Amino acid sequence: MKSIQAYRFALDLTPRQERAVLAHAGAARVAHNWALARVKAVMDQRAAERTYGVTEAELTPTVGWSLPALRRAWNSAKGEVAPWWRECSKEAFNTGLDALARALKNWSDSRSGKRAGRPVGFPRFKSRRRATPSVRFTTGAIRVEPDRKHVVLPRLGRLKLHESSRKLARRLDNGTARIVSATVRRDGSRWHVAFTVEVERAERVPARPTSVVGVDVGIKHLAVLTNDELVPNPRHLADAQQRMRSLGRSLSRKIGPDRRTGRRASKRWQRAAARLGRAHARVANLRRDGMHKLTTRLAREHGTVVVEDLNVAGMLRNRRLARHIADAGFAEIRRQLAYKTEWNGGRLVVADRWYPSSKTCSGCGTVKAKLALSERTYTCTTCGLTLDRDLNAARNLAALAREVDTAGSGPVAGRGADRKTRVRGLVAVKRQPGTASAGQTGTVLPQGRTTNRVLTKAH
Ligand SMILES: [Zn+2]
Repeated sequence: MKSIQAYRFALDLTPRQERAVLAHAGAARVAHNWALARVKAVMDQRAAERTYGVTEAELTPTVGWSLPALRRAWNSAKGEVAPWWRECSKEAFNTGLDALARALKNWSDSRSGKRAGRPVGFPRFKSRRRATPSVRFTTGAIRVEPDRKHVVLPRLGRLKLHESSRKLARRLDNGTARIVSATVRRDGSRWHVAFTVEVERAERVPARPTSVVGVDVGIKHLAVLTNDELVPNPRHLADAQQRMRSLGRSLSRKIGPDRRTGRRASKRWQRAAARLGRAHARVANLRRDGMHKLTTRLAREHGTVVVEDLNVAGMLRNRRLARHIADAGFAEIRRQLAYKTEWNGGRLVVADRWYPSSKTCSGCGTVKAKLALSERTYTCTTCGLTLDRDLNAARNLAALAREVDTAGSGPVAGRGADRKTRVRGLVAVKRQPGTASAGQTGTVLPQGRTTNRVLTKAH
């Protein structure tokens, strides 16, 4: 199985190398901004001509937006725009032009309705202060040194890694990986190199192929699993968050920049901002580490993993919950499970967004009309079942996966298929309020026997 995968390593750049990378990132920005200004000027010109009543045929001709077109234009103009262009790799300019070509395509696709999701705005100019410095190499000498502690990139030369590259180096050595591109970028105060790699993966089977596990991403815990397991948040995460808060307060007491008065930030403010940035990075790293460990474990062990399809964009708009939900990284866990179940030969079932996994009793199937988020314990008024709210939801999700299997929608869906479930129909049949007691649920009745729905009417 071939898949595209990223390998990311922290770098230890010398001051001289850092200057070289920044120069390349700057070159990318110059090419991006030059091409954007050109596209914009022509668009504005055409818009103005239209208001004067110029016919469509006589308008200023449009300029191409594709990467090859942008590159041609740049190559014929670079002598004038950037007489220093020889100092940087051509890949640097390509990085900027590629970013612009994608941004313009996303914007026009979004405007014409070809692209789903939120509307995409028109590309903006990159600023030296705001933009993340980044440069991508797709050709030339890109390799990992045999000592596994250095990488070689075109123009930049031999860069020292902060960590061992053995995971990638092993694959490169035995020929199961091919480097497609390498990107150097600064994340906060640390430089990273990310390799895009085409990896040939061995076919795998989960340790327990028939096992089904429901995952409910919690607020208090990282996740709750059906087998009564509460996966805690990573160690030190709370400490790191505490430190982040105190650094934020410390920063707010110092003299920051003010664009209206043109006031420059004080040295102390700059140092405090850097400290806060590092604290943010640490929180993000701890969180990412915890999620990866959890999703890898689940995908390696269980044949079927069930998660809920949450409306994350909608939930983030809820200010009070926003931090918690961003923390738990709902969408990220789901994304990781999707590809990791595929790598391991398992599958991921995504329950419908409106499936009432929290409101349903995992014992008898009663659906509550209302369940406040503050109610952390689920208590069923019909059968008296009392258990942790998240655990109840996780059990419902696992039961759902079994229903999907037994409902006769064919054999197990394609490996790792991100399959949507038609839950509502199933709910109507099996999850009527006040039906069978705990022992009678979860089984499919043989043909000809009365269904739960008849039982409801009898009551
Ligand atoms: Zn119940």
